[in-house]
Amino acid sequence: MDTNTEKNQADSLEFTWKCIAKNLYEKTNEAVFKLCFDNMKFIYLDDKKAVFSVPIPTSKTLIEARYFEQLKISVTDVLSFCPDEIEITVEGESAKQSSSDTMSESQAPQTAVKVETKTINYPFPDYTFENFVEGNSNEFARAAAINVADRGYNDKTRIETLINPFIIWGKSGLGKTHLMYAIANKAIEKNPDLKIQYVKAQDFSNQIVEALTSTKNIKQEILGKYRDVDMFLIDDIQFIEGKEATQTEFFHIFENLYERNKQIIITSDRPPKELTELADRLKTRFDAALTADIKAPDYELRVAILKTKAKQYNIELPDDVIEFLAQNIKENIRQLEGVVKKLSLTSIVTGQPISMEMVLQFTSDYLTESEPVSDTAERIVSVTSRIFKVDEKEILGPSRIKNIKDARNAAMYVMRKITSLSLSDIGKIFDNRDSSTVHSNVDAIAELITTDRVMDAKINEIIKEVERGQ
Ligand code: ADP
Ligand code: MG
Repeated sequence: MDTNTEKNQADSLEFTWKCIAKNLYEKTNEAVFKLCFDNMKFIYLDDKKAVFSVPIPTSKTLIEARYFEQLKISVTDVLSFCPDEIEITVEGESAKQSSSDTMSESQAPQTAVKVETKTINYPFPDYTFENFVEGNSNEFARAAAINVADRGYNDKTRIETLINPFIIWGKSGLGKTHLMYAIANKAIEKNPDLKIQYVKAQDFSNQIVEALTSTKNIKQEILGKYRDVDMFLIDDIQFIEGKEATQTEFFHIFENLYERNKQIIITSDRPPKELTELADRLKTRFDAALTADIKAPDYELRVAILKTKAKQYNIELPDDVIEFLAQNIKENIRQLEGVVKKLSLTSIVTGQPISMEMVLQFTSDYLTESEPVSDTAERIVSVTSRIFKVDEKEILGPSRIKNIKDARNAAMYVMRKITSLSLSDIGKIFDNRDSSTVHSNVDAIAELITTDRVMDAKINEIIKEVERGQ
């Protein structure tokens, strides 16, 4: 393997690690992420094995004891396959893979990579304006976002210059979170003293619940961190629909920041007017916002994104592949990125250059009009969580508490009904339950909704929401 190829593959692994890290960050929480994964590196990958390294033995012990399953899930999510073996080594201690019995030098794929990669800088430094490809569908949102980032941050008074609040809306996978971070990254670059808080609405809601059930001091500590900021970003605001306590606290934080001319930035998966289960006073506030929507990318933007992502991953995408992918993946930029990621890894693992043949063999998941089944399943869990007001982790976990179990069974039922997932596929999503358990839960719900109108309505709502998001 020449040094150039090695370098390309190192870049690929580094980029892949960023994706895995992002996934871990989203699926755990900030504290766990910092403790376990913040300084992790992805040092080796072939078709059987993935090796990570951490700087201190404690992280290794902690991950192996508590977060190994999550690591496996995130690795699988990003790679689209699960290596037989995932190993965590401690930096400085020799990794076992070079002397592994299961894979001698000659058996190992020619292109197996073993390189040092840089750690990521949390949170998401790559979500910048420079990395955001502009097209007809997002040019207004991008320009408005740049404007928001530029306004007044050299001048602490910045009265009358704010676009406040600024709301970005659009369907999933079109770049809302990216743009929101780009604003924060640019603003902080201009003024490193700026205090910025970013939160996913779902986490925000969980924190509010925690705050309300805690002592006064803890409550103040939790809420205080949102008041003492110059810029407050809240992602996927639709998740606070119907959650009254969260909305009340959000409103107070909003008012407090707004009155002091602090920048508020919000994303939503639909226009603010369609957030029907929102308190009137919040609706009024949102009516006064500058809203910018992002639409599905047109052909030119899809091509530009494929080219940019290929460059980031340091891979060659032949013209016929670019044209084919741009014609077939139309609705979602996350999917375009996913397919480039998949091709890059397939190329590393097989040692073959990227070709149309590889596209057809390995990326069929992405080539249907709809999104991959795994994304739909993820969304079913998230919508169910919202409608049943039960945490996603609880839905996926072992709890037997009635409302959690109801939510879990409803999610299983919807998956069975609107996706092509088998009972055993569904079982795997839910903490590796076996297919007979899934079967009986799905049957129980089918039976229940013939008499239970509330459950029936909730299920219909889930299906409607999941389907409209596609
Ligand atoms: P959303 O928040 O709308 O669901 P994200 O911001 O998470 O979408 O975007 C999904 C992925 O697509 C991210 O990895 C993001 O970097 C990428 N992406 C979206 N839009 C663009 C764009 N215009 N240029 C480059 N990458 C983009
Ligand atoms: Mg997002």
